[in-house]
Amino acid sequence: MILFSLRDIKKGEEICNCYTGFDYPSRFETPEKSREVLQRQWGIFCDQNCLCYDKAYCDKIKRRSELNAAIMRFKLTPSSAGRKKIPETLALLEELLEFQKEMNFEVINRWLMLDVGFQIAITKQDSVELAIRYITEAYELVRRIVHPEHNEQVKKYQMCMRNPQTHRYYLTMEKRD
Ligand SMILES: [Zn+2]
Repeated sequence: MILFSLRDIKKGEEICNCYTGFDYPSRFETPEKSREVLQRQWGIFCDQNCLCYDKAYCDKIKRRSELNAAIMRFKLTPSSAGRKKIPETLALLEELLEFQKEMNFEVINRWLMLDVGFQIAITKQDSVELAIRYITEAYELVRRIVHPEHNEQVKKYQMCMRNPQTHRYYLTMEKRD
């Protein structure tokens, strides 16, 4: 196993690994479900102070999952209906990004959402500035977590930051009719 770190690790410092997780973009489990899986599969029991017993926190995770699902369901379709959905979807994305700021384990999902946000925002003139903001943050994240040998993504982001008009989705949803 190879681990990459976002910060320096002190000698002897414990490194924790997540056995399950509602922080994974691919499997949005609720904290309750996560607790059950930890118990059943790994014999790990949460104590009563665990966040998974915190109702407000669980509600947030639930809302976050709903936002994530709504954003992932959105497909860019070159129709007026598709165009109308763009501001709405970008608003959901902003709400999700706000949640993620509070949850500092959200690096991978934040990267994914910034990438998706960029691809949506770049399609219209009035959100190009937002698209640049997303791709710039995605670049800052990815250059810290991707192995240098696999930095095609980093180069791609740099390119999009400098010349957004070269991206294949650039202004593709701008009204032309
Ligand atoms: Zn727990």
